[in-house]
Amino acid sequence: MRDAVVIGGGPAGSKAAELLARDRDVLVLEEHRESGLPVECAGLVTDDVLALSGVRPDILNRLYGANVFFPGGGTISVRSSWPKANVIDRADLDRRMAWRATDAGAEYRYNDRYIGHTATGNVKVRSTGGETGCSLLIGADGHSSSTAMSLGAGNGPREYVRGFQMDLRKKYDEQDMINIRLGSEVAPGFFSWEIPFGDNVRVGLCTSWPAGPPAVYMKALLKKAGLEDAEVIRKYSGKIPLGGRPKTYGERIMLIGDAAGQVKPVSGGGLFPALKSADALKETAESSFISGDFSEKALSAYEKKWKAAAGREMRNGYRLRNAYLKLRDIDLDRAFSIASRESVRSVLDEINLDRPSSVVSCMRKRDLASLMPILMRALL
Ligand SMILES: Cc1cc2nc3c(=O)[nH]c(=O)nc-3n(C[C@H](O)[C@H](O)[C@H](O)COP(=O)(O)OP(=O)(O)OC[C@H]3O[C@@H](n4cnc5c(N)ncnc54)[C@H](O)[C@@H]3O)c2cc1C
Repeated sequence: MRDAVVIGGGPAGSKAAELLARDRDVLVLEEHRESGLPVECAGLVTDDVLALSGVRPDILNRLYGANVFFPGGGTISVRSSWPKANVIDRADLDRRMAWRATDAGAEYRYNDRYIGHTATGNVKVRSTGGETGCSLLIGADGHSSSTAMSLGAGNGPREYVRGFQMDLRKKYDEQDMINIRLGSEVAPGFFSWEIPFGDNVRVGLCTSWPAGPPAVYMKALLKKAGLEDAEVIRKYSGKIPLGGRPKTYGERIMLIGDAAGQVKPVSGGGLFPALKSADALKETAESSFISGDFSEKALSAYEKKWKAAAGREMRNGYRLRNAYLKLRDIDLDRAFSIASRESVRSVLDEINLDRPSSVVSCMRKRDLASLMPILMRALL
């Protein structure tokens, strides 16, 4: 019997496996033939994410700022004097994190899909590879997590956004800036991105669920970006859970990463909150291994701890997202005139991408007051 079985060999599962395997016997079940594929990510991460991952994946580019395009044609450029984000090879990150967990002692079983489990006495995990017993189950099986749903039918995320992305052969002159486009024509309920990396550009968008599949909006985006004739190298798609899940622990089980709904609601980035939550998981698990108490009550400490480490941005970010969802294109254009003020731009220049909602608290009272009528109309 294993100490712990981790479902999912993505970044959240591999980080949890690495930390647990330092002291315990850990098995990771991954349904694909290797970690990292298929890719469902733009690969945009801060230096803090790389430090938390513990590995050094291939870095394709570094970005210093963003050109933000508003629906009516207004553009704001925000730029920092230091690199804000790295464009990484996401498959390489996942692979390296799995190797690191293996080095720490975790065993990976690929092509093995979790089917279900029972948690009376110990845990019995059923997977396509057979049955495995363990003391503790870690659900790190991503956005459509079956382990999360084992905690109850109501344990879905508040909402999903859907993403569609392509790598195109096109060299952007401005290599150190990401283009972000807002508005109902290109990305209703979210935003689009163009991320340059050398001779190529990664262009993608997400849409809120009621707006329909994102691929439908790609044509308008390519036209606006002047990319209609660029050669397509690769296409990706995926879902992002937003707003958190009601429960991230239960009898002999803890969830981490997308499975736990640990995603920043403003940007859709999930790597930072997932990796920030891993220490809380390790600490709680270790207390249970020592006490032998894996009850729901004992594991509830995990949710308190990870929320203390990463929950604030999720709460504040989701409030901002709710307001954003209600803004019409005309409201976004009104917000543009305020956002282009020097006093607001200087705050945006220094934005921390892992805590994007903190810009609100850094803004001058006068600028916030000008934004208030737009936000109030949206919130009411
Ligand atoms: C279009 C798009 C762009 C994004 N861009 C960014 C970005 O730039 N930066 C950022 O930080 N985040 C981004 N994200 C979000 C980010 O990709 C996720 O938050 C991150 O992958 C979460 O990691 P995870 O380990 O929790 O889940 P995953 O990476 O999804 O890993 C889960 C693993 O579990 C496995 N699995 C699932 N079910 C089973 C099962 N039943 N049995 C066994 N294995 C199973 C899967 O195969 C997968 O390997 C983006 C997402 C999308 C969709």
